[in-house]
Amino acid sequence: MEQRWSKPLQIMLKCRMHEYPITLQIIKIAEKYAADHPNCTIKRIHVVVGDDSGYVPDTVKLYFDAIAIGTKCEGGELLIRRIKPKLRCRKCGMLFERKLFSFSCPYCGGDGEPSEIGKEFYVESIEVAVGKEEKIDAGNN
Ligand SMILES: [Zn+2]
Repeated sequence: MEQRWSKPLQIMLKCRMHEYPITLQIIKIAEKYAADHPNCTIKRIHVVVGDDSGYVPDTVKLYFDAIAIGTKCEGGELLIRRIKPKLRCRKCGMLFERKLFSFSCPYCGGDGEPSEIGKEFYVESIEVAVGKEEKIDAGNN
């Protein structure tokens, strides 16, 4: 069967190509987990993405849904926790969120410089269902 990509998707793939390999990486981590734990179904994958990581959460999600098809991750959900970048004060060492047009430390007024906070990108946890999934009635009807 012939498949055609819509134009917006084609454009997106050109602009945001670097989300593809990282999303593939997430799926590989989850698949490895599933291979090590046979009999489990991947339900949710929790990923942490810093706003300064260079990765766009929505794009990662979009790739996830596409790449997951036919893998152990199919039907699973990708949940992204975003981290706001923080600056570290050069003078007192405190971490703080940058205010618009300002780099100064709210504690001592010193200059802030970029810290590692906000550049994260990692799989935080994987939720699985063990065994054959059964429909559970809540029993409150
Ligand atoms: Zn300070």
